[in-house]
Amino acid sequence: MGMRELVNPHILELEPYTPGKQPEGPGWIKLNTNELPYDPPEAVIDAIRLESTRLARYPNPTSGKLREALAAFHGMEPSQVIVGNGSDDILNLLARAFSGSNRSTFDTFPSYSLYPVLTAIAGGKIQSIAFDEDFSLPVSELINSGADLLFLTCPNAPTGVRFPLEQLKALAGDFSGVLVIDEAYAEFAEGNAIPLLEEYEQVVITRTFSKAYGLAGLRVGYALSTPEIVEILDRIRDSYNVNRLSQAGAMAALKSQDIYSKYIQEIKQTRQWVLSELEELGWKVYPSEANFLFAAPVKGESGAGAELAASLFRFLLQSRILVRYFPKHPLTASYLRISIGSPCEMERFIEEVRKWTRTA
Ligand code: PMP
Repeated sequence: MGMRELVNPHILELEPYTPGKQPEGPGWIKLNTNELPYDPPEAVIDAIRLESTRLARYPNPTSGKLREALAAFHGMEPSQVIVGNGSDDILNLLARAFSGSNRSTFDTFPSYSLYPVLTAIAGGKIQSIAFDEDFSLPVSELINSGADLLFLTCPNAPTGVRFPLEQLKALAGDFSGVLVIDEAYAEFAEGNAIPLLEEYEQVVITRTFSKAYGLAGLRVGYALSTPEIVEILDRIRDSYNVNRLSQAGAMAALKSQDIYSKYIQEIKQTRQWVLSELEELGWKVYPSEANFLFAAPVKGESGAGAELAASLFRFLLQSRILVRYFPKHPLTASYLRISIGSPCEMERFIEEVRKWTRTA
């Protein structure tokens, strides 16, 4: 039998996830994967260095101390927390536990494009409910979907729009499946869905150290939910899913809230500055509560459109500025998703945008 006949057919059929480019070499301004533009606090580096002397030993299999610290941080019980190798790991566990060929899995469009891939790996096929142009939450459509598992990104990616807590409550109250609220960007927002955990038993909130904690390279994420759901996810997780360095680094990061609140404050201020610059240029920009903006470029008298977005994407690339462009769908093709970098990086970005605006 040939190798390809040996592969599970659903694996051959799935379209793999495409991560944002990670360019090699100096001089790039990287605004394409929503990372933090600042170095980790010294305490994080020190903790990782110290832990590196203990690498001959396996890590704590449950990330026990980190679970306890996260539980205390959120005012919850350790049995309500699970830690993963990035929040992608947790999302994968959720797909493996709750989706598959005989389960219905939904997400919204646009949102994080990993959900369909994880669902497909688990043998299922995701169904997407598209947003309207105003990106409001289609509460009744989501309830009526009858989904066993629903992935919802809040603040949404790529728009940055946060859905009001009241709407999330209305959804959780009448939804009969497992509701995953992916809060990868919640630290940049003015509210979050954690209050839902007190009232609803089938809600899972996922968080990450990759964005606001600036530790994307360390790969640590976590979920908050009920002990029952955490126990199910624990059954199927790799025994040592989070390495020693990552557990130690994340613990130290959690204790460095003072530094991170300054970073977050600066990102929000820079976001506001970029937003006002782009609006002054006549762009349509969604009101983001994340560390990125979803914005439709315009030039001269012509309105926004896919050609303009593609043109600016290429122009920026030539100037070694990377942003994210999703050309495949009419809801996203006229927009660029721009991560908020340091004030200096964003000044360069605006300068290049102005140059592009003046080109023929
Ligand atoms: N959810 C969303 C909405 C994201 O944008 C990302 C980052 N690409 C993730 C989850 C995954 O983050 P990580 O695995 O680094 O925790």
